[in-house]
Amino acid sequence: MTVEETPAGGLRIGALVPNSDLAYHPLIAQRYPMLASAILAGASAQLRNMASTGGNLLQRTRCYYFYDVATPCNKREPGSGCSAITGLNRMHAVLGTSETCIATHPSDMCVALAALDATVHVTGPTGARAIAFADFHRLPGNTPQRDTNLEPNEIVTAVELPAQSFTTNYTYLKIRDRLSYAFALVSVAAALELEEDTVKEARLALGGVAHKPWRAPSAEMALRGQAADQSTFARAADLVLRDAKGFEHNAFKIDLARRAVVRALMQAAAGTPQSQSNKKIR
Ligand SMILES: Cc1cc2nc3c(=O)[nH]c(=O)nc-3n(C[C@H](O)[C@H](O)[C@H](O)COP(=O)(O)OP(=O)(O)OC[C@H]3O[C@@H](n4cnc5c(N)ncnc54)[C@H](O)[C@@H]3O)c2cc1C
Ligand code: SF4
Repeated sequence: MTVEETPAGGLRIGALVPNSDLAYHPLIAQRYPMLASAILAGASAQLRNMASTGGNLLQRTRCYYFYDVATPCNKREPGSGCSAITGLNRMHAVLGTSETCIATHPSDMCVALAALDATVHVTGPTGARAIAFADFHRLPGNTPQRDTNLEPNEIVTAVELPAQSFTTNYTYLKIRDRLSYAFALVSVAAALELEEDTVKEARLALGGVAHKPWRAPSAEMALRGQAADQSTFARAADLVLRDAKGFEHNAFKIDLARRAVVRALMQAAAGTPQSQSNKKIR
């Protein structure tokens, strides 16, 4: 339940640290404000007070059919079919989907952790190991019943943040049906390191669009060395959504995500983060 500094200049967050305590921890609030923003954009104050770091990583999809045991769902019952592909799929994924599942991962915190290049520490019967955040959650493929690469009997012990924390130019932008207590239709964690008006380093991850927090390495690469302006950001957004595929009710997410990426990068470049709250509610 502790947050500790690492010798490498980063932080080690114990798996049992509650979401509220983490968001308001002075080392997180000051050094990783994008993570604090993402956590505070999620759930409600009461839920955040109880939810843990490990639990938020392991939370399952909010696909309605996954919870409705009267309907087929490959994630709940492998081989039974996917009710969402031809059903109510407004909240579902547009990137990295498969013919077996189009569910999204619901976490906000994980989107920021993906952008920050966190590492997940786990332990189990065969010992401890570290998993890069990008490899922790899985795409559905043919095994949508598996959300993560955690092996049976392994548990998460901690999440480690590297030293680079993007304290000046960052944003967590969450677009949802109402301003509080709602899951993301699309969210964007954007962090920039600028040299004058040029992008030196860029991080971009999206929530609400895929079975896992969607890190966008090709867009990050396209941003590096370019002018930090709207046309650069629009090109990066096009790259992120290049392979997106919409379904009957969620095709709007593709354009929404494209515009959210541009807006998040503009906000990050201007140093005007959104979704940040300094008010502690317990
Ligand atoms: C109504 C509602 C709205 C929400 N809205 C949002 C939102 O907008 N954004 C958002 O990010 N989240 C949201 N959440 C999720 C919430 O913030 C919690 O993260 C989530 O409910 C998990 O709760 P928990 O931490 O108590 O985990 P638990 O319920 O205790 O655990 C969840 C799963 O993780 C497993 N687990 C827990 N810890 C570990 C560990 N250390 N190692 C391995 N497995 C572990 C448990 O066995 C369980 O299977 C919402 C939840 C609810 C109920
Ligand atoms: S999208 Fe995934 S979770 Fe939802 S019904 Fe299809 S298989 Fe189940």
